[in-house]
Amino acid sequence: MSSVNDIRSAFLGFYQKNGHEVVASSSLVPKNDPTLMFTNAGMVQFKDYFTGRSTAPWPRATTSQKCVRAGGKHNDLDNVGYTARHHTFFEMLGNFSFGDYFKERAIELAWTLITREFGLPKEKLLVTVYHEDDEAFSLWKRIAGLPDEKIIRIATSDNFWQMGDTGPCGPCSEIFYDHGESIPGGPPGSADEDGDRFIEIWNLVFMQFEQIAPGNRVPLPKPSIDTGMGLERMATVLQGVHNNYDIDLFRALIRASVEATGVPAEGPHLASHRIIADHLRASSFLIADGVLPSNEGRGYVLRRIMRRAMRHAHLLGAVDPLLWRLVPALVREMGRAYPELIRAEALISETLRLEEIRFRRTLARGLGLLDEATTGLVAGATLDGETAFRLYDTYGFPLDLTQEALRARNIGVDTAGFATAMERQKAEARASWAGSGDTAAETIWLTLRDRLGATEFLGYSAEASEGKL
Ligand code: ATP
Ligand code: MG
Ligand code: MG
Ligand code: MG
Repeated sequence: MSSVNDIRSAFLGFYQKNGHEVVASSSLVPKNDPTLMFTNAGMVQFKDYFTGRSTAPWPRATTSQKCVRAGGKHNDLDNVGYTARHHTFFEMLGNFSFGDYFKERAIELAWTLITREFGLPKEKLLVTVYHEDDEAFSLWKRIAGLPDEKIIRIATSDNFWQMGDTGPCGPCSEIFYDHGESIPGGPPGSADEDGDRFIEIWNLVFMQFEQIAPGNRVPLPKPSIDTGMGLERMATVLQGVHNNYDIDLFRALIRASVEATGVPAEGPHLASHRIIADHLRASSFLIADGVLPSNEGRGYVLRRIMRRAMRHAHLLGAVDPLLWRLVPALVREMGRAYPELIRAEALISETLRLEEIRFRRTLARGLGLLDEATTGLVAGATLDGETAFRLYDTYGFPLDLTQEALRARNIGVDTAGFATAMERQKAEARASWAGSGDTAAETIWLTLRDRLGATEFLGYSAEASEGKL
């Protein structure tokens, strides 16, 4: 059986052998790109080469890129633990041509890799192309010998990639693996395509045009290639399992979580262990790339991920901080491929431990309040925004944590009510400071308060001084 580490090496080795420069993953925090929360695809570090703003030092490259899709345009946070194929943090394997080879060679290489090197049976594979892309359709037919019904034309934006409103763009072609009839879900383009039977393993983007203005698209003089394969999804296929969380890497992390809690990964606890394993990876890699928990921006996304995992640790009955104890298992699994994990191990452990200690001061009481506020609510009901806001403000529950906590019972949250409560509190805070005369101090205080959020000020509350917290 090929391990995740073997598959990563095999992919990079294959493209290296085929004239690609092996380039290291870039940071999860994109450089010089304030529009992007986290690196969410392999092409991010190469953006300027594709737009022509700078010239690539090599005509072809291959990477295994750290990606986070939690927050921002791509947000898979709510899928984690519930679909077989989504993580917040994952590795995207890719090959890139910067104005060098194009569609034909890209398809040839991809098909050779998965069917010859990886040995996937052709019968299990199907592909999609953009409905207008006859060229890709015939290439798949000729190179892969796929029958027409396994080359599905798709008309949606899923198969047309755009960097932004302007810039490089083009059709894509996605490769799917059929996990078998026993798993619910329809083929791509069908009404029930969101199931886990047909899983997208690889996306080939053919950067063919430049969007100059709305409605004005011209062919690029030197078309480029950008591809992304989910390493964990490929491992799932190659290891003969049907869920990303059953691959060697996740089994090791879940084993660590089971050992530390003494709770088997079964029944209702399975999702908790999976979420903990996923969020452990995302948190650790984000911390290794310099993100620290805070109440704004990237740091708040990190805090939300950490606290979600910590609620699940609590559900598993962990009485002491759990996540930091799993870091050695993660370092063992991934430290060789990503030495930054080894370098940052102490920082990662300490950040996780302190955050969990801090959140545990309010977590149990917050959950108590949540229980009280929702007893008697039935499936389809909504928790009022006031309570959700109190959980946020006093107990440090990010809104999405409350939503996730109620999801199993199919109870929603009044998010508009939450926003209103938040606004009201801000307005009250401003009003109570009006008239002190010291506008500079006021501005600083209010800015700080907005930035840090009220939970940071728990230390000043009456309860804290009474030693209850
Ligand atoms: P999906 O439709 O399954 O959400 P996607 O179309 O959003 O995937 P792409 O943006 O095309 O994904 O990314 C390229 C590849 O990265 C995908 O083909 C898939 O193998 C992998 N991938 C995407 N999102 C995730 C995720 N959240 N977790 C794990 N792998 C992912
Ligand atoms: Mg997606
Ligand atoms: Mg897709
Ligand atoms: Mg895709």
